[in-house]
Amino acid sequence: MNIDVKEMLEGKVNITSFRYVETLETMEGLMFDDLPEVEGKLKRIERRKLLLACKVKTRVLLECSRCLDVYPQELEFSYEEVYTEEPLRIIGKLTEEDFKYTIENNMVDVSKSVRENIIMNLPIKPLCREDCKGLCPVCGKNLNREKCNCNLEDITIEY
Ligand SMILES: [Zn+2]
Ligand SMILES: [Zn+2]
Repeated sequence: MNIDVKEMLEGKVNITSFRYVETLETMEGLMFDDLPEVEGKLKRIERRKLLLACKVKTRVLLECSRCLDVYPQELEFSYEEVYTEEPLRIIGKLTEEDFKYTIENNMVDVSKSVRENIIMNLPIKPLCREDCKGLCPVCGKNLNREKCNCNLEDITIEY
């Protein structure tokens, strides 16, 4: 989602609110059960700086790290990012933060930060459920769905 911020940069408008649902195209590399619902505000904090505050609600599809099944993971979080005009046009000292999200042609690309913040909020070790039994290391059966007769105590490691 691109938001025209020309009037904000000119100082005519100080706050812009928006609400929309992301498209799959802007969320490259992610899969969803429910596309992200985004609710946010842009606020002018300096002459060429806008603060973006967003609330995101979505259900991503992840692969369970134990049983390898794909499952829907609910995510709900808020974040804030600063968007600045193209760094070359800013006078003064630049920090790394100034280069992260830029306002190009008076447009703020909200989806870019939504995507990056979804990735940051993904669980490190995704689990389809807390007590996922995983796969049997011997026969490979998904132990959430079926039982197997392998006796795991018999496994010995030979060197
Ligand atoms: Zn699992
Ligand atoms: Zn087994």
